[in-house]
Amino acid sequence: MAYLPEQNRYEQMKYNRAGRSGLKLPAVSLGLWHNFGGNDRLENGRAMVRRAFDLGITHFDLANNYGPPPGSAEEMFGQILHQDLAAYRDELIISTKAGYYMWEGPYGEWGSRKYLVSSLDQSLKRMGLEYVDIFYHHRPDPDTPLEETMAALDHIVRQGKALYVGLSNYSAEQTAKASAILKQLGTPCLIHQPSYSMFNRWIEDGLQDVLETDGIGSIVFSPLAGGLLTNRYLNGVPADSRAGGPSVFLKSDQITEDKLAKIRSLNELASERGQSLAQMALAWVLRGGKVTSALIGASRVEQIDDNVAALSRLDFSAEELHAIEEILAK
Ligand code: NDP
Repeated sequence: MAYLPEQNRYEQMKYNRAGRSGLKLPAVSLGLWHNFGGNDRLENGRAMVRRAFDLGITHFDLANNYGPPPGSAEEMFGQILHQDLAAYRDELIISTKAGYYMWEGPYGEWGSRKYLVSSLDQSLKRMGLEYVDIFYHHRPDPDTPLEETMAALDHIVRQGKALYVGLSNYSAEQTAKASAILKQLGTPCLIHQPSYSMFNRWIEDGLQDVLETDGIGSIVFSPLAGGLLTNRYLNGVPADSRAGGPSVFLKSDQITEDKLAKIRSLNELASERGQSLAQMALAWVLRGGKVTSALIGASRVEQIDDNVAALSRLDFSAEELHAIEEILAK
């Protein structure tokens, strides 16, 4: 049956401006890194994308290498777009990236103009799109001059293949340099995509200041620490979870007793706030208004519902923030 999105989809979601740009992003965005690959079920992916859009999630984040196999997440998303969302292209913010290994030979990874331009052309083909809304350089390249990489991003925007550009995994110092070059070229950096969660706070140490000064937004990935900051692992490692599956990005041996003790205490605090742990973890990355969007992953529709419901309780008392610091410091 043809998909008709919820009519009231823009009523619940909160939209935040990305830095000092004209673009607003939903406070919760959906990433397709896991659960949209060649071995994952199209119908599950399709249901998640539909539900997300119904809840006001206008932003879907991809990269050339998402799968496995690399490229297959873009292909699956292309199919879903074609089947369900073709009529809503102007209501969507679709991003992709290049930087990690994608194909053999000297032009299949890092930051040369050759790689970035070719990779985006491949991504557009896989998704069946004429342009993406945001194109990222996925990781800094220690060998290619920053000027070349930034000029490639500027070129891609001027070609009309991306509307905005972003940086991912760049340090504070690298971001300041890249941002200055992009500004000079006339294509300011829209947004930075770093990792950030209660368990991973590196951006508080310099990067957030650079973003504030330069008017760059931030969309933080793995705000749930890949599922650790949820109720997923409270009673062991479920077979259908990320840590229970083949993903190398979260292994069961990372779920130590020490970590579990923190997760349990945080879970209790979340219950006292009337939230799930996932909801509190998302509210926490969004606290204080520095972060434009929390970029979640999901393996099922219910998780998307649970996560978006975080938006009904974003405030924290000073006591709650203090209690979280105490738990994390233990
Ligand atoms: P999260 O920290 O949000 O982890 C997502 C996982 O948490 C889900 O797969 C699910 O695990 C679990 N989960 C989510 N919601 C709930 C819930 N409400 N209750 C219980 N469990 C829940 O983010 P990801 O690590 O998946 O990353 C999100 C996105 O960030 C990626 O898709 C990608 O777009 C981007 N990213 C970017 C990177 C970069 O270098 N720029 C690197 C990594 C990610 P389970 O599968 O076990 O059910």
